[in-house]
Amino acid sequence: MDDVANKIEKIAAKFPKWAAKNAEERRKILLKWNDLILENKQFLAQVMHNECAKLMPECLAEIDYAASFVSWYAEQAVISRNQVIENGEVVYQPIGPVAAITPWNFPAAMITRKVAPALAAGCTVICKPSSLTPNTALALLQLARKAGLGEGVLEIVVGDANKIGKEFTSNPLIKKLSFTGSTAVGKLLIAQCADTVKKVTMELGGNAPFIVFADADLELAIDAAVKSRFRFSGQTCICANRFLVQAEIYDKFVAALAGKLVDLKIAPLINEKAAIKVEKLVQDAVKNGANLVLGKQRADGRYYPPTILNNVTQGMKIFSTEIFGPVATIIKFSSEKEAIALANDTEYGLAAYIFSGDLARARKVAEAINFGMVGVNEIAVASANSPFGGMNQSGIGREGSHFGIEEYFEVKFITQKSL
Ligand code: NAP
Repeated sequence: MDDVANKIEKIAAKFPKWAAKNAEERRKILLKWNDLILENKQFLAQVMHNECAKLMPECLAEIDYAASFVSWYAEQAVISRNQVIENGEVVYQPIGPVAAITPWNFPAAMITRKVAPALAAGCTVICKPSSLTPNTALALLQLARKAGLGEGVLEIVVGDANKIGKEFTSNPLIKKLSFTGSTAVGKLLIAQCADTVKKVTMELGGNAPFIVFADADLELAIDAAVKSRFRFSGQTCICANRFLVQAEIYDKFVAALAGKLVDLKIAPLINEKAAIKVEKLVQDAVKNGANLVLGKQRADGRYYPPTILNNVTQGMKIFSTEIFGPVATIIKFSSEKEAIALANDTEYGLAAYIFSGDLARARKVAEAINFGMVGVNEIAVASANSPFGGMNQSGIGREGSHFGIEEYFEVKFITQKSL
């Protein structure tokens, strides 16, 4: 752990200098990093593809998405948030050296979504990427160095997750931990942070409902369903995990979705363990009465074929689990009230989608469901300038937008008596 502890000392030593740097200089360095990421887009996408098998067009799109956080937060660096209030001043100060832990499913964007606002706020950062995707992280670091983010301002460590996590959470020099990953690991890290009372941001798992009312534009809903469920073979935290479809259009929806999947090309899963997990969930659902509308037997290896299960019900494991694979589970509902109850029947609360021609109703349902992001006739719920994050066991705090940078400040109140 010496390497990790040493790097933490380095970012702690550099913090006062980086925090005191002229905000315009921080902005320029971040903009330079953004330019370099975009100039090296093809290379970065290829590194990512080689590591996690995400299809190349999706890798290229992720690099754009990753860069968008850097450019957006570069501009935030120069915005002062300080306020004068009735009895004093509210001063925003960078919280201090920050530790970040990121997953493999967005090997670039999950790093920049944390690192860019932290650096813009004046914090120094140490980041541990997933051991499944270290090269994307190291390639980003190389470009960061070229842009002027020197040693001690941004550091990357790779290695044993458990040990690095313990060092990040117990080291008093670290003032904040930002984590993206599974809810199980998030809970562990929250507990580990208790001793030093570290501030945490937690971006955890999801179990997104995708509600389709009978009055929805079916073509729009089906197109969105395919994109949302099957992007990166279903390995994203916000992808539709449960399709709740109104009885009147249920059969039509299932048939139309099956039609779209026949020729769909998807990436293999991250590893064979992931494919076996998905296979077991499907087998369990079928054993308990679900109907396999589309899907083949899994062959050895990490590929899992696009699959549709209908007649899925609340008691099944697949209803309550984040599937993280290319399986569409379809559940029937009759009334709006039932759709809301089904959607909320989960410990998660990250993203949700509603498809309906009645926008007033969609809005009412959006307010009634317990999810941090809701797309109405829309699946694009994530961008640099909007708040991303979950309710309940999907997380704590927000990334993206001004909410994202505020996670990296301490708010200090200063009042003084006139002499
Ligand atoms: P994971 O197993 O929780 O791993 C995430 C990160 O935590 C990795 O860097 C991993 O390192 C590290 N880690 C694992 N055990 C640890 C420990 N004991 N202490 C410290 N760090 C530890 O999750 P994943 O499988 O990579 O990612 C998928 C999950 O992330 C899904 O649940 C998905 O929903 C969630 N996710 C959420 C968001 C969001 O914004 N809410 C975005 C993307 C993904 P190693 O790889 O070295 O084990």
